[in-house]
Amino acid sequence: MQKKQRLQAPTGMHDILPADQPYFERVYETAKELATFYGFSRIDTPLVEDAQLYEKGTGIATDIVEKQMFLLRTKGGDVLALRPEFTPGIARAYLQHGMLNLPQPVKLYTSGPVFRYEHPQAGRFRQFHQADFEVFGDQSPAIDAQIIQIFYSLLKELKLPHLTIEVNNIGDSQCRPYYKKLLVNFLRARQYSLCLDCRRRMKTNPLRVLDCKEEKCQRVRVQAPQVIDHLCEACKTHFTSLLELLDEADLPYHLDPYLVRGLDYYTKTVFEIVAERATPQDSGKPPALAGGGRLDNLVKVLGNKDVPCSGAAAGIERIVGLMKELGITPQTAPLPKVFFAQLGESAKKKSIRLLEELREANIPVAESLGRDSLRAQLARADKLGVALTLILGQREVLDNTIVVRRMDNGAQETIKIDKVVEEVKKRLRK
Ligand code: AMP
Repeated sequence: MQKKQRLQAPTGMHDILPADQPYFERVYETAKELATFYGFSRIDTPLVEDAQLYEKGTGIATDIVEKQMFLLRTKGGDVLALRPEFTPGIARAYLQHGMLNLPQPVKLYTSGPVFRYEHPQAGRFRQFHQADFEVFGDQSPAIDAQIIQIFYSLLKELKLPHLTIEVNNIGDSQCRPYYKKLLVNFLRARQYSLCLDCRRRMKTNPLRVLDCKEEKCQRVRVQAPQVIDHLCEACKTHFTSLLELLDEADLPYHLDPYLVRGLDYYTKTVFEIVAERATPQDSGKPPALAGGGRLDNLVKVLGNKDVPCSGAAAGIERIVGLMKELGITPQTAPLPKVFFAQLGESAKKKSIRLLEELREANIPVAESLGRDSLRAQLARADKLGVALTLILGQREVLDNTIVVRRMDNGAQETIKIDKVVEEVKKRLRK
């Protein structure tokens, strides 16, 4: 007989259960505080976009577009993709809504789920969440530094220790083509020492060979020409200024000549932030918590407009995973200090309005409206460890009163129901 299959979340996708919500909320709140401080406005773009947006913007030869997009065909025949990242969608919105005509720079941020058809493993999901910041219309290295500062502060505010910023400059359309040629010549001569993927990448996206995790490819790259030695004057100046800004801001960075990030649209600055472990988990470098860089060609590719752009995204699951691993607890909403118990039909009828009155007065209250027995309700109040329980029975309804019970000594008082807010506040202050 065929075994009955239990329904499960799709492979690589997960529920965020109530116990984990405070962690996610804490990350989102911190991102929002930083966004407000640094003048970023929130934007929300659709979960799906025309697949061509990513083919053009992210790049045909990237892993994201080549292997990782969830595609769907609409009844009308359009091919849409579940967003694998935020940046192209935000750039599309910038163009579509004429944000080019606003005073520049335009600073936008967002957060939410993104989808990539990955091989699921620890810290690598098919649906995960990102917080994403983008600045359009400013080519200054100071903007790159500000983006780096924002993501560093996000992780720092969340108390994650041992943070390092890996940074590199991968050139622009002036100098990268020449460097690419040099690199391809170098790799071609050693192609049989590369993994199969890199032999293919050598033709489609040669820079990616530099950040391949395979040991044999890492042995080859040690002798490869480095992009940093082949930058044009503009890229060199940009990089020097960026490093000066990072120094000035006391940000702990490390030059990583092999950091390329694999997306077509990066120009000049690329960076990632990692949390070094006291005891490394495996041989490779720790997974990035956030990453991004400068994207000066993106808007040009999508809308034929010269608009520089710089941005980055942080992976919320990776951050939450690390917080939990290190025992960092998010601040949670204060537990209610008051329980509301009701007895009888007429009391239950009055409950909804009374609870709303307490909520409007900012008094968090727990209740068990579904329960009828007073004993069961008091037992729950005990378990929650509240200071006061309000008891509304038939008699109190008739007298327009309510009983206030102190849970530490069981003392009870009857008060006028229209004084409940001030009486509760008074007792909680004591
Ligand atoms: P990316 O858009 O690839 O630059 O990723 C930005 C951040 O998102 C990374 O630094 C990770 O923290 C996170 N991230 C990327 N891919 C995944 C994934 N498959 N699962 C979980 N987090 C991810």
